[in-house]
Amino acid sequence: RRAANISSLMKQFSAGNRSTRLLVKRRDEIGELSRSVNKLLDKIVDDEKEIRDAHERLHALFDNVIDSVIVINSRGIIESANPATAKVFGYHPEELIGRNVSVLMPEPVSSEHDQYIANYTRTGVKKIIGSGRKVEARHKSGRLFPADLAISEMYVKGERLFTGILSDISEQEALKAQMAKANEDLSLANQRLEELARTDKLTGIFNRGHFDETLNSEIARATRNSLPLSLLLLDVDYFKRFNDHYGHLDGDNCLREIASSLMRVCKRSGETVARYGGEEFPIILPHLDLEGARCKAEEVIQLVRDLQIPHAKSAISNQVTISIGAVTWQPASQRPIESAELVKSADILLYAAKAGGRNQACQDKFTTTGTSGRKISGVKAHLRSIG
Ligand code: GH3
Ligand code: MG
Ligand code: MG
Repeated sequence: RRAANISSLMKQFSAGNRSTRLLVKRRDEIGELSRSVNKLLDKIVDDEKEIRDAHERLHALFDNVIDSVIVINSRGIIESANPATAKVFGYHPEELIGRNVSVLMPEPVSSEHDQYIANYTRTGVKKIIGSGRKVEARHKSGRLFPADLAISEMYVKGERLFTGILSDISEQEALKAQMAKANEDLSLANQRLEELARTDKLTGIFNRGHFDETLNSEIARATRNSLPLSLLLLDVDYFKRFNDHYGHLDGDNCLREIASSLMRVCKRSGETVARYGGEEFPIILPHLDLEGARCKAEEVIQLVRDLQIPHAKSAISNQVTISIGAVTWQPASQRPIESAELVKSADILLYAAKAGGRNQACQDKFTTTGTSGRKISGVKAHLRSIG
């Protein structure tokens, strides 16, 4: 009878009755067996609860993650999809179950997907399984969007299944693009700022700051290469009278015209035209020796004459003219110099050109007598008037 009780309890348990246990009074063999059966049933109940909890947790995860989780079989057919799939792809999970997962992909991946799985099943060579990667996904509306996709493989009751977890990264990508654009804008703005910092406002050519920097680096380059370096310093003649007669605005326009024509003739690489301030323009001429500097000075004087800007108050012409001081430094045969010395030397020659009657250039090689500024006549001895 007691053995029959055990057997009956087991049947009830199998039928779903989880609470009934055997009443054990005696300490004989059947009693021991009954105790063991009770313990075993308790353990089964505990394990069942644990499995149920784990299952619930897993389901909660499946239902509540913001990523789309899709399970497909080895033929690419969707077996399950979580609710987030509706948000990510625009399809309700029920719409997708039973369809080929390729519906969620753009061409050509879509047409080739069955082949991908077949290849993997045959060769075992993993291309994307086990590692996340960026892909393009296809929304129900046809819109393509960037996504992160991670795929894992599992076997359920002997069948091979693949779980894909996909998150829409459109926002991150848009943000990245925005950041890249902002960075680009910033570097353009910086570039523009640097340009502005070295540009003369009135004429748009280089300003004195940039001229100073360039002259220093050209002196260093000429020294390294042992090549001559020439500097022209030009100044508009009787410009104060021009302003007084035609007004400041016409004066400005005159400076702009001269600046832009200087830019046209100083195009050789390394040649730098700047506005030194007022109506003075220095021109750096790398590699030019005395003869080259003379030609350039003549060309520039002619250029301004050709502009034919009327100047009713000039004492020497009826149009705007310029004077030039042109100095050439030859590092091969002359001592090292500072940029200020070269400018000073050109300035003294410019003064000489003015004193010599304006509308002309005076040139010389760089001399210490010239740069000492003690005696103009000391320089004058070396002068040749041009123009
Ligand atoms: P010189 O032949 O000896 O060079 O005589 P100058 O009148 O040209 O020389 P001065 O140094 O006496 O006068 C230079 C004038 O340049 C004074 C100023 O009115 C004018 N000037 C300086 N900067 C500007 C400017 O930005 N715009 C205009 N319109 N005039 C300027
Ligand atoms: Mg002047
Ligand atoms: Mg001046």
